[in-house]
Amino acid sequence: MSRYTDRIPLPPPGAKKSNLTCHFCIVGCGYHVYKWPAMREGGPAPDANALGLDFRKPQPAMGTWISPLQHSVVTDRDGSRHNVAIIPDRGCRVNEGLASVRGGGIAQTLYAPDRPTRTRLATPPRERTGLHRRLSPLRAAPRDQGSAWW
Ligand code: SF4
Repeated sequence: MSRYTDRIPLPPPGAKKSNLTCHFCIVGCGYHVYKWPAMREGGPAPDANALGLDFRKPQPAMGTWISPLQHSVVTDRDGSRHNVAIIPDRGCRVNEGLASVRGGGIAQTLYAPDRPTRTRLATPPRERTGLHRRLSPLRAAPRDQGSAWW
């Protein structure tokens, strides 16, 4: 559960940044992912946050800002907690900084043991064959094998 109830934390300078293509439909909108330790946050001045924006003043409706749906606190396999913010990429020619309802909520689909996403499979299922299939069609596969298949 997020410890933030009065604000969405800003990614601090140095937050890990990566690109993401939304997986919900074939449009392929682009997003930026910011990830940083859960106990840290950036400040509102442009040089105090990874977005380089001045959050001391209100941002325009079509500007760059992080909505509650675009932020999650996740738990890595080693137990460490991280903030994750997933915001539309203004430089992407597909969506030019816009988000749809589904894409704008990607951050809510990330695994966390204290949120409904805890029910996600920890290991990918593997289909059995022959006699084993009749007894039980699926069994868990090692995570590294599942990743290789996809
Ligand atoms: S953000 Fe919306 S329109 Fe864009 S790829 Fe995702 S689901 Fe499709």
